[in-house]
Amino acid sequence: MKILFAASEAYPLVKTGGLGDVIYSLPRALQKEGAEVRVILPAYRLVLEQMSQLHIAGWLQVQGAGRMHDVRILETSDRHLGVPLLLVDAPALFDRPGNPYLHPDGYNWHDNAERFTVFSRAVARLSGNADLLEWKPDVVHCHDWQTGLVPALVSLEAEPPASIYTIHNLSYAGVFSHEEFERLDLPREWWSTHLMEFFGNFSMLKAGIIFADHITTVSPTYAEEIQTPGFGYGFDGVLRAMKHKLTGILNGIDQEVWNPATDSYLPYHYSLKHHYMAGKRKNKEALLRQSGLEPSEQDLDTPLAGFIGRLVEQKGIDLLLDALPALMDKHDLRLVVLGSGEHHFENALRELAALYPERVLVTLGYSEELAHRIEAASDLFVMPSRFEPCGLNQLYSLRYGTPPVVHAVGGLADTVVDATPENIEAGRATGFVFDHPSPEALTGALERALELYRQPNTWRRLVRTAMSQDFGWTHSARQYMELYERVSAVRA
Ligand code: ADP
Repeated sequence: MKILFAASEAYPLVKTGGLGDVIYSLPRALQKEGAEVRVILPAYRLVLEQMSQLHIAGWLQVQGAGRMHDVRILETSDRHLGVPLLLVDAPALFDRPGNPYLHPDGYNWHDNAERFTVFSRAVARLSGNADLLEWKPDVVHCHDWQTGLVPALVSLEAEPPASIYTIHNLSYAGVFSHEEFERLDLPREWWSTHLMEFFGNFSMLKAGIIFADHITTVSPTYAEEIQTPGFGYGFDGVLRAMKHKLTGILNGIDQEVWNPATDSYLPYHYSLKHHYMAGKRKNKEALLRQSGLEPSEQDLDTPLAGFIGRLVEQKGIDLLLDALPALMDKHDLRLVVLGSGEHHFENALRELAALYPERVLVTLGYSEELAHRIEAASDLFVMPSRFEPCGLNQLYSLRYGTPPVVHAVGGLADTVVDATPENIEAGRATGFVFDHPSPEALTGALERALELYRQPNTWRRLVRTAMSQDFGWTHSARQYMELYERVSAVRA
């Protein structure tokens, strides 16, 4: 089974969120199941800078917005991803500073529609004939809006492979104007409410939904939620109509990259078998020192709650900001935050850190290393997301013995078991779950957590159960393999 993974980011080369993690870890897991996987990314400047062994597989002429691009297809034998990597090199579009979607000043690149249309056209050409690469996938597996046009574009090729489209986050829909649609010279008949038109604009995500042979999303609960108006971002109707080809498959985590027994970012290693409580305490001490504190034993007894993520409304950071002052005044609690995003949230966090020096520790920015250290050092992980397609941080938290406090949505509902007395008794509890996205409900869940934290035996049991969960990729990779077999058999 030959699979081409088309995406806009892949850890460790270029990552802005969970998508990057998945494009690194899922292909490896599929390879273990016997698939032959290649990943294709845009040749961003940042990616090219990390490559040492590139060769040109060929050239394509690709239509952009009112102009043609001479595109080089690059192959690399660098093993950053553990599977072969292809790059679509269109310098006018991708040889830039900044992140894949944003100018360094934080606004969307003005030509994102053209950038990802050219990328998608190149992917479709390579998928639909074997001339250039002497390799043709049985399935092209596309991810998020940036590759939403691929299933439509491959349908124009002579020998289209089957296509799978995975929605990692429905709220990023690749919506552009009619004028943009025309400039891209896409087939006119695609401008239709049954196809790509979306409330007067067009949406690349909708193109993926309509044209793919099968759609997946990254947790079973999110697959249900997105068919409702509350979570559907305007796509709930079309997703209900397409539900015969929609499946929720839970994301896994890479258990080598995220392993507290071997994690090279951690000052102290620990595992279920070896000193997990003591190991976490030592990591806590190291993190507090790194933050400029001289922690006493009492400081180390104080529960430390962690938050890592994009600072956007989705992640419920405003709920945490609202809940925090009263919590801090009432309880002995410390918070460590790592994130970047909307300026007003960054400012509010700065103010909170100034109000509670030594108790609210905030790092604004992006740091893979600090993310690992926070997971290991924290006693609790706070993830009050308003919606969460899957969420990876709660899975990393479980593995690092850091019970997550989560809102019961999407993948959070599918992966965290609330510490009710019955669940604790049955040895099932792994965290704290609340039902309404409100500061009060979050406060309630955090207060339950703080109370249990003061019961060392019960807390240890919770930590043990959390660390015993297996959210590796094996099970989900097998579900994808079955899906690939099914869709490619229909094509054949
Ligand atoms: P999303 O994809 O919606 O951002 P996920 O929980 O699925 O959320 O994945 C987020 C990933 O990005 C995790 O690997 C997390 O550790 C990482 N991450 C988010 N923000 C930061 C940051 N500021 N620094 C380091 N890693 C971050």
